[in-house]
Amino acid sequence: MSERKREAKGMSLKNKVALVTGSTSGIGLGIAEKLAESGFHIMLHGFANEDAVTKLKGEFANKYGVKVGFNSSNLIEVPQIYKLVEHCHSELNGLDVLVNNAGMQFTAPIEDFPNEKWDDIIALNLSAAFHATKASIAGMKSAGWGRIINIASTHGLVASVHKAAYVAAKHGLIGLTKVTALELAESGITCNAVCPGWVRTPLVEKQIADLAVKNNISNEAATISLLEAKQPTKRFTEVSHLGDLVSFLVTDAASNMTGTELKMDGAWTAQ
Ligand code: NAD
Repeated sequence: MSERKREAKGMSLKNKVALVTGSTSGIGLGIAEKLAESGFHIMLHGFANEDAVTKLKGEFANKYGVKVGFNSSNLIEVPQIYKLVEHCHSELNGLDVLVNNAGMQFTAPIEDFPNEKWDDIIALNLSAAFHATKASIAGMKSAGWGRIINIASTHGLVASVHKAAYVAAKHGLIGLTKVTALELAESGITCNAVCPGWVRTPLVEKQIADLAVKNNISNEAATISLLEAKQPTKRFTEVSHLGDLVSFLVTDAASNMTGTELKMDGAWTAQ
């Protein structure tokens, strides 16, 4: 289809705006980079110091030539989520792709699991995606096009011990993905979940360090043990590969792909 026709149908990827929550590090940053490479204007979001934000914004603008905004809303606080979506409209003039990625982890047996950690993980890993989706739908509907991508996890499909809040939130996020896809099925808006296995980011570095201390082994040995326990390929999923997967989901080729959960987990959940 010609670019003009795509433009007329609102399908051109040019001048579209993507918000990637939690894009100051790890998977979110990798996804934001790939979307910027595809020409999306980007609202970066997350926690970072001022120097890091200035550097990141400069890198995006110089490397990809797109408009870049930044927002540091704490997504555990509901009103801030609505302000974040408003910020996309006021600074970048829209919101076409929403990637609900920000997340946190905490591990402990249920009997010892701190109540406030449960509340925070459910709020960030699940409820924030609901509120961001709710706030984004009207704009996407009026554009007749939109993409909502929820970064879930293998832990949205299977469980592990000591991750009650995380596993509950990620299973919930996959449920939310399906409802969103059904409700928006005829609107030109798709909603899918991405389920990574182990990805080497700060969130996993902490789990490796904890494992090393617990078993009195080196970080290297803990890394091997972590991979061997779950991920048959025995290698991490790459952040850039997750970015490529999300970049595919925003294309026209994926326009009838909705309500799915896409695994990139080195056969973790094939067992
Ligand atoms: P990360 O710790 O590198 O990044 C988390 C991002 O979320 C950061 O930008 C951080 O600033 C932001 N964030 C944290 N708390 C926040 C809050 N209260 N409000 C707003 N932003 C907040 O983590 P990551 O590994 O890149 O994880 C990204 C997503 O991928 C998470 O949802 C995680 O559950 C999921 N995931 C990660 C892995 C993995 O192995 N790393 C595997 C499967 C799924």
